Amino acid sequence: MSLQGKKALVTGGSRGIGAAIAKRLAADGAAVAITYAGNKAAADATVAAIEGAGGTAFAFQADAADPTSQRAGVQQAAAALGGLDILIHNAGVAEFSAIGDDTDETFDRQFGVNVKGLHVGTRAALPHLNDGGRIILIGSVSGELAFPATAVYSATKASVAALARGWAKDLASRNILVNTVQPGPIDTDMNPADSEFAQQMTSFVPLGRYGKVEEIAGAVSFLAGPDASYITGTALTIDGGAAA
Ligand code: NDP
Repeated sequence: MSLQGKKALVTGGSRGIGAAIAKRLAADGAAVAITYAGNKAAADATVAAIEGAGGTAFAFQADAADPTSQRAGVQQAAAALGGLDILIHNAGVAEFSAIGDDTDETFDRQFGVNVKGLHVGTRAALPHLNDGGRIILIGSVSGELAFPATAVYSATKASVAALARGWAKDLASRNILVNTVQPGPIDTDMNPADSEFAQQMTSFVPLGRYGKVEEIAGAVSFLAGPDASYITGTALTIDGGAAA
């Protein structure tokens, strides 16, 4: 129980990677709050799974792209937990189109959730975040590698890694450690392993398969825990060797 007594907020914890992170941090002993955009049933299922395993969990609707909503979600989570030790920015959206098909709306939605949501959420969390805390951002291997029709999404995830590097320096005096986890293709609703696109993606992965959400959650657990006490301002890519 390496996170016993810790208080963690996971944005976008209703499904996919975020739900797996919430469950893993709770299994490690943390009390957990999650936010979700609109899927209350999935959020309730994450909370029920954690509580069914003997943990503590809360869920709050908060649109990461809407600053007022994002700030309220963070404040509700901090109030329910009685403070924060661990902040996981996982909520994200992907809308793939080539530059000729991009629109102002697809650009704004992706930067709104994937980048501005992190900026607003971190600023809202800081007054509640204990010294010695952890902030972990879920970026993407796409922040380092270009694939066709993913330029804007890739730009958001390169920005995520840049935010982590800067915040690591800003917050080092409080011993708050800030890192990015960069998944490769992981089997979720966003990127199902049985899609046509998946066959193409898998051909770029030396391990020859999609990753599982638990394989990301395990790395997040490590970065949130005591063994990562000298790791800040870096990115851990978990992609089956795709970027190697
Ligand atoms: P999913 O689409 O499966 O789940 C997305 C989660 O984010 C849901 O909980 C959803 O809530 C929430 N969410 C979406 N938009 C918002 C919003 N505006 N405000 C608050 N919450 C929101 O995605 P994944 O689990 O696959 O992805 C999680 C993260 O991992 C993202 O940042 C993604 O970019 C990143 N990633 C994923 C990869 C993959 O291959 N799957 C690869 C690399 C990075 P709700 O259920 O209410 O809709």
